[in-house]
Amino acid sequence: MPLTKQPRPIVIIGAGPAGMAAALSLHAVGLKPVLLERYSEARPAGNILNLWPPPIKALREMGVDTTDLGAPCRTTFRNVHGHIRADIQIPAEVVQEYGGGFIGLLRPELYRRMLAAMPPGVLRTDQRVAGIVDHGNGVRVDLADGTNIEAAVVLGADGIDSMVRTSLWGASERREHKLHIIGGYTFDDVPGLERNEVVLTHSRQVQGTYSSIRDKGRDGVQWWVLEAWNPAAPAPDDLQAHALNLARQFPGPLAGLVGATGKGQIQRWPIRDRKPLKAWSKGRITLAGDAAHATSPYAAYGAGMSIGDGYVLAQCLTGVDLDDTAAVTGALLRYDQRRIAHTTSQVQQAYVLGKAFHHAPAALRPIRDFLLDHTPLLQRQVGEKSPGEIVAQLHEMGTGLARSV
Ligand SMILES: Cc1cc2nc3c(=O)[nH]c(=O)nc-3n(C[C@H](O)[C@H](O)[C@H](O)COP(=O)(O)OP(=O)(O)OC[C@H]3O[C@@H](n4cnc5c(N)ncnc54)[C@H](O)[C@@H]3O)c2cc1C
Repeated sequence: MPLTKQPRPIVIIGAGPAGMAAALSLHAVGLKPVLLERYSEARPAGNILNLWPPPIKALREMGVDTTDLGAPCRTTFRNVHGHIRADIQIPAEVVQEYGGGFIGLLRPELYRRMLAAMPPGVLRTDQRVAGIVDHGNGVRVDLADGTNIEAAVVLGADGIDSMVRTSLWGASERREHKLHIIGGYTFDDVPGLERNEVVLTHSRQVQGTYSSIRDKGRDGVQWWVLEAWNPAAPAPDDLQAHALNLARQFPGPLAGLVGATGKGQIQRWPIRDRKPLKAWSKGRITLAGDAAHATSPYAAYGAGMSIGDGYVLAQCLTGVDLDDTAAVTGALLRYDQRRIAHTTSQVQQAYVLGKAFHHAPAALRPIRDFLLDHTPLLQRQVGEKSPGEIVAQLHEMGTGLARSV
């Protein structure tokens, strides 16, 4: 009896949102993904999260239950007096179709839903990848335990410090934004709360924001404060006291929300990214998520873009003969072409916003704020252009995963 040749898998390194989305999407189009995670589980680093419509569309297509995943929110940028500087304009039909223009949720719930959709045997935990070797008609994936896997394609979804990115494109500096963010969430009701809103307020030097969330059927609120911070300086000793001190300068319920949050629900992150790459793919290896486009939380879109990467990668690899190196390389180049411009523009915009709001020289801050309060500058850039790009993504994603490209 002739032996049936087993297809070589597509090996995905890293089970964050990028890796999980790629595994689910590739499986959905009939390919064979293997998802390797160095830790004993796919675990979220952090809690607060908002998602735009493109990742919701992608999640649905890859079989993730998005019913009541988060609280639908409208987003406004405001000044400290409550004046609206920019209203993020997501068309009503998109809001209706995707359950909100921007939804607020907790990150562990996203992981739980993605893992619930994962076919058995795809995710392999305690598998730290030590190296990869593209030998032309395949890629050898070397694990830290000394074993290896022969892959048809490798996807580096291994986060901001990606080993795969470094091995493809060389080492690059982390770009320190000299900012940090302190955030948390609570299910307490606080007076003055505007429900189903992301209220994003800037004072001269600090951003203070809150967003409705839903988590397992409960309504709550997540919040964050963001300010300039020397990355070499230690973190504040008492995160809650520090956040409360910053939150008091904002109108509305922000300080009350910070005060109502349990210490265990408060976290801090220094903000950094890496300069966007001009190419992601080389031979049979490519990148997704923060490995490809680490993004400041100013965009609130890093995880969203990571999910979109997996979806588009599966579209590009659908119907491709994985034994044909030229066909694989061509498919990965198409993937680059569809993802790099959009993600680069979001990374750069997030970087520039952080600089403009938190690193403007003191003398320029009143002029900046005058312009933001009295001209349509922020409305045009953040209120219209940026959501326009996000909505254009919905069209670019096509009618489903099986779209041929
Ligand atoms: C404070 C904050 C707020 C944010 N808010 C938002 C938001 O509101 N909306 C949004 O869309 N995005 C947001 N982001 C961005 C988002 O969190 C990231 O872009 C997203 O997590 C990136 O996903 P990823 O899968 O690429 O990487 P990661 O989540 O970093 O996952 C990488 C995975 O790879 C694994 N790994 C690494 N190396 C190896 C190896 N050698 N072998 C095996 N496994 C390996 C890691 O253990 C990890 O599980 C925020 C980020 C921060 C810091």
